[in-house]
Amino acid sequence: MTPVTSIRFDVLTIFPGMFVGPIDQSILGRAQAAGLVSVQIHDLRDWAHDRHRTVDDAPFGGGPGMVMKPEPLFEAIEAIQPLVEAPATVIFMSPQGRRLDRALVDELAALPRLLLVCGRYEGVDERVLEHAVDFEVSIGDFVVSGGEIPAMVVIDAVSRRIPGVLGGDDSLDEESFDEGLLEYPQYTRPAEFRGWPVPEILLSGHHAEIGKWRRRLRMLRTRFRRPDLLPGASLTAKERAWLDAQPTDDADQAALDATERGRVD
Ligand code: SAH
Repeated sequence: MTPVTSIRFDVLTIFPGMFVGPIDQSILGRAQAAGLVSVQIHDLRDWAHDRHRTVDDAPFGGGPGMVMKPEPLFEAIEAIQPLVEAPATVIFMSPQGRRLDRALVDELAALPRLLLVCGRYEGVDERVLEHAVDFEVSIGDFVVSGGEIPAMVVIDAVSRRIPGVLGGDDSLDEESFDEGLLEYPQYTRPAEFRGWPVPEILLSGHHAEIGKWRRRLRMLRTRFRRPDLLPGASLTAKERAWLDAQPTDDADQAALDATERGRVD
């Protein structure tokens, strides 16, 4: 039997109920049922010290908002860490963290276990970040109200990279960001809708030609929408030469119109 890669996520939050639904359905639900992914949600208030289950306090030095206290966070992380043998990499979800992209998703997917800590209020006491957290991860340059939705984004994106989670042949992956390219445009029936036909080549049944067309649409589309990805894209010298020879006044529609150019070798 081939060894099965699996990953475990522990999540520390004051809103465990937010995770009911998003992680139980669809691809993530199936991945958990198949034993490829496991997600354990922990309520931070279980480690609070008073009967009001307080986890926040006013900031030293004054200022607006509240800050998450260090004691419950340290104690929770220390209690969750030994629950299973695999060591957890402790990640604090934060707008100040390393911005999530495909490379980081793949790095995280190579780890056996992640403990995702969700902030609320104005954030956490800095000593937690210094002494209990390995690193911080951001889902983008904006602020959301808590770390829960960012943690779900990490769980979803990382789980998709675990072999078998998407089903089918993962090695034939042509999703956006595979090889540093965006995905090709997709069509389904009807072949003509409101007078708009699908590109003829897709109806031809010539799989090799269709593959070539899709590859070229991926290159054109990436150059138009995300030129920043191109220097790192896995293109052959021949493909780069082909792309360089294409008109650059391309709009996205022009890339689609490039059916002929996409076909010719
Ligand atoms: N005052 C903080 C933001 C607090 S938002 C600051 O200015 O940096 C409350 C919590 O939401 C954060 O502690 C963090 O856990 C989470 N959060 C907000 N935006 C995020 C983002 N872009 N990525 C990941 N987590 C985020």
